[in-house]
Order: sequence, then C-alpha cells, then structure tokens
Amino acid sequence: MSAVVASAHGVSKRYGPTQALSGVHLAAQAGEVHGLAGHSGAGKSTLVRILAGLTTPDSGRVRFDGQAAPPLSDRPAWHGKVACVHQRPLLIPQLTVAENLFLNRQTDGQLINWKALRRRASHILEGYGVPVKPSLLAKELTVEQRQLVEIARAVSTGARFVILDEPTARLDGAAIDRLFASMRALQDNGVTFLYVVHRMQELYDICQAVTVLRDGRSVLSAAVDGLSHRDLSHALTGEGQPGPLAIEAGPAQAPKPKPKGRKKKVEEEPAREVVLSVAGLSLVDHFEGIDLDVGVGEIVGVTGSASSGKIAFAECVAGVRTPSAGTIAPVDVGYMPSRAGLIPALSIAENVTLPIAGRLTRRGVLSPKLVREAGSKAIADFGIQARGPRQPVGRLPAGEGQKVVLARALATEPQALVAVNPTAGVDMRAKASLLNSLKVAASNGVAVLLVSGDLDDLRICDRVLVLFHGRVALEAPKGWTESGVVSAIEGVSP
Ligand code: ADP
Repeated sequence: MSAVVASAHGVSKRYGPTQALSGVHLAAQAGEVHGLAGHSGAGKSTLVRILAGLTTPDSGRVRFDGQAAPPLSDRPAWHGKVACVHQRPLLIPQLTVAENLFLNRQTDGQLINWKALRRRASHILEGYGVPVKPSLLAKELTVEQRQLVEIARAVSTGARFVILDEPTARLDGAAIDRLFASMRALQDNGVTFLYVVHRMQELYDICQAVTVLRDGRSVLSAAVDGLSHRDLSHALTGEGQPGPLAIEAGPAQAPKPKPKGRKKKVEEEPAREVVLSVAGLSLVDHFEGIDLDVGVGEIVGVTGSASSGKIAFAECVAGVRTPSAGTIAPVDVGYMPSRAGLIPALSIAENVTLPIAGRLTRRGVLSPKLVREAGSKAIADFGIQARGPRQPVGRLPAGEGQKVVLARALATEPQALVAVNPTAGVDMRAKASLLNSLKVAASNGVAVLLVSGDLDDLRICDRVLVLFHGRVALEAPKGWTESGVVSAIEGVSP
C-alpha cells in the first residue's frame, strides 16, 4: 500500500468573476510521478500555487502526509513539505552551483565555509544522480542543468514533494531524456513529483498517474497504465465518448465567494480593513495568547524588555518560527530581521532583488540589467547612500545596510511588514530616513508591525502593545505617553 504524500480535497478558488477551481480533488501517492493535465485556462497553475503554499483556496483542504497544510505564513514549514521548481527564485548566475545550493541556508549572517559546502554539494548532487559540477557558475549551466540543481536544492532541504511546472517546455529531446533519468533516480530516493504536463506523450513516458482538469474541475483521476488516448482526450476536451476505464471525478462543490479581508471597528476611527490578524498566538516559554489585528496602512508597535518575548513573537508572525498555538491570517509578510542577513559579497542590487529574482528574467534567465535597475530604484526610494547598485554591501555603514534590508523586505510588495529593531546601531540621519521609509510603506497600504525596544521608533506607531513576560500588559492607543509605556515595559502599574 502506498501512502498519499500530497492531496487536495474539494479545493475551490475564485478570481473576481472567474471560478478558477471548483471542488478539485487530487492525490499524489508516495514515489510516483503524478501528471497534471488540462488545456490552457483549465486551472493547473492555480492548483499548483495552492499546493505550493503560494495562495490559499477559498474552500477545501490541502494535506501533506495526511496532515493539514501549514498556515501560509509559515514558510519554513512549507519548504519542508513541497518545492515548486519553476516558481522558486532562479539560481544566481554569478554564484557557483554549490553556493546556489546553500544560498538560502545561511544563518544570522555568519560567515560560511564554502570549501566544506562544495564537498557537501558534491555529495548531494551525486547522491541524487545530478550530473553537474558544484564549482561551475550557474550562468554556465544549461536550462536542464539549472532545473536539476533547483530540484536537488529542493530535495536536499527536506521537501519530498516536488512540483515541476512544464519542465520540458524549453528542452530538446536528449535533455528531456536526461531529465527523466534524473527524475527516476530521485523517485528511487523516495521523491514524489507533481508534473504539469506539456506534451501528452510525456504523460505516458514519465507519469504513473494523472489528474485532468477541465474548466476548473477535476474530471479524471486514473492510473496512466491502461489509460487510452481516447479516454484522455475525452477528459481534456469533454468531447467524444469515454471508454469503460475513464473514472469521472465526483460532482464539484458549489463555490463560495470569499469576502476580501475582515472589517473591524476601531473606536472613533474609520474602520480599516484588517490585513494582518493574529489570534491566540503562543510559543512555549516565550509568549502566550496574543491577539492582534493590523489594518491597511497602520503601524502597530510592539515593545517590552529583553525577556518580554517580543522578538520571538515577531519571528512567529514573520513565519521564520513556528508558534506552538494560535493562528496568523494568511498574508504575504515582508520581514526585516534584527540582524541584517545580507550577503556581503553581493551588490546592493543583488541583495535587494534576491526575493524577486524570478521576476527579473528575460527568456528565463536572470537579467543583470533588470537587477541593476531594481537596485537603482531601491537606492532612490530608500535614500541609500552608496556609489551605485553594483557596490557590494559588505562595506556599507550599518544604517545603509539596514536600508538595503528594508528594501529587500518590501521588494515582493507584501501586504504586511514585520520590522524588528530596524534602527538599532544606526546613526541619527539613517534612523530618521528608515523611520520615514516605514511611514511611506504604511501610507502605501502596508500593515506594519514594528517590534522595537527604542521609544524613538515607537513614536511613528499608531498604537503600541507592551509585552511583559510573554503577555500583553498594555495596549496604548494613539496619544500614548512615554511614561505609561515605560511603566508597562518595567512591569509597574502606571
Ligand atoms: P492553466 O494553468 O491551466 O492555464 P490557470 O490556473 O492559470 O489555468 O487559470 C484558470 C483560470 O483562472 C483562467 O480563467 C485564468 O484566467 C484565471 N486566473 C488564474 N489566475 C488568476 C489571477 N491571479 N487573477 C485572475 N484570474 C486568474
């Protein structure tokens, strides 16, 4: 008996007037290549985005290994479950294969022993049967090799379910054969694939099972062995007669349109649409039972002493730590950590664009020109004092480095931003500039959670929560006084 590794149950998703998915079912069994087929507009990409944790369904459930999918904001948990090769940031062309393999695994800006990593990279690549030298620069790789390195990167970080979105669209016959050989080796290592089928013949060449979508519904789930061209064609088009083997999926559920955001009344203030919503959030030994809503364009401060739990709270909201209880409304959250985490050898432009590298491409290859342009824009928008977008960030003063971190956190145009001690250790001018940039982000509609022990930072906040030993000791509305907040930080009743 093989187990279901990843599944969608009755998943629906609407975009404005378009019902992209209606009650879709899909179950990928351990170790198989599961094809996802359907004509253009059938809903394949929408289902892929839902299974990759890039968007939530309006209704229905996604499960991995029989367990509910993590909340959208818990990125590390998603990375441990599923990897989507085409939608991950592309490899950075100027870095080697080994460096690219370990790029996202640096911790706290510590220096990295690249020599040891190159050896580990060799092990990983050989272990998965990926015939690529770790010392090559990513820009020297073929499309096929880049895909294989991305797959190796995904599975080496723990994901056992890999989504390949039309991987052969740009490959020739020999390259397709080599990709398929590597996929079979990975299957033998226990990796399960969801394969968005580009040409129908591939379904027969590499897939063991298939789900066909038509007009947003799953109309066929079947083993490929024994599936006739006639049944497949009927499922894809809805035309012609199905043969006896075709299994029609159950009736689709009625879609429920989902209201966008929730409204919450704030006394004497116009209601703001709530963007970031945290309920009953707890992390054992750090904080307990925190509820917080941050509206569009609002800046909410969170402060407290070193033992208050404020940093752990910020890390949970930003999705870099997993809370032990509670929920975080699924929004895209930009994160500005308290310690920079910039890559010193890379330029300002490269650091700023790391999270959006996938968008700055021409014909699938990262465009240095687009990266530079995005870097120049960040320099102008955030007032970064530097020679230009190509300057490495390694030697920048602390304040300018923080501006790069803020620009990077906002590069994906998130709905919410979590900033932790954004002005710590920077000079007065950079501090004023950083705080002003946070206000500008809020005035553009970003919901800002500003976690800081610095009262100067808190002055730009609409309201401030004070944590004391992991609990909310004070919620100070607009017009809060310094003495009230300081008393609460120290655990003294005002
Ligand atoms: P496929 O990948 O099979 O071509 P998609 O999932 O891209 O299908 O699209 C399914 C339907 O949903 C299409 O009608 C498409 O226009 C619509 N759709 C997909 N994504 C969005 C979006 N972000 N906004 C609006 N409509 C969308």
